[in-house]
Amino acid sequence: MSADCIFCKIVRGEIPAHKIYEDAATLAFLDIHPLADGHTMVIPKPHYEKLEDVPVTEAGKIFETVRRVTGAIQKAFNAPASTIGINNGRAAGQVVPHLHIHIVPRFPGDGGGTIHSIIHGVSKRRLDEVQKMLVTELER
Ligand code: 5GP
Ligand code: ZN
Repeated sequence: MSADCIFCKIVRGEIPAHKIYEDAATLAFLDIHPLADGHTMVIPKPHYEKLEDVPVTEAGKIFETVRRVTGAIQKAFNAPASTIGINNGRAAGQVVPHLHIHIVPRFPGDGGGTIHSIIHGVSKRRLDEVQKMLVTELER
């Protein structure tokens, strides 16, 4: 737990939130500035800043809650799809430094973009070079 973290304060019940689901490991609550009705964030209850900080034994629990809540949001709002994402670190736009997974229900013609619209960079390396770099790192 982090004393100053706003999401830890929500976990501890020190500040209000529109909670929609809670279990021993995770909490889901509505984003205070929703991009669509039902825009929800799922967080691990312990304070982890980024995805890679989460112990492997806890990662599955977070994804289980994301899966469960996504289904409920889509049913409740009759949404045929959703965009699910993490601003994983400050350079990616993370403002609250407590890991949170955004779930935004999506509709045909809602004007929103795709994952491909968040950045317009072009890879500077060949795919086989990138593959080698990542396989090497993952084998460490
Ligand atoms: P980030 O850019 O870190 O992925 O997004 C943080 C999100 O948290 C924003 O969408 C913002 O609206 C939401 N948020 C920030 N403070 C609060 C709060 O006190 N309560 C709730 N429910 N959402 C918050
Ligand atoms: Zn926190």
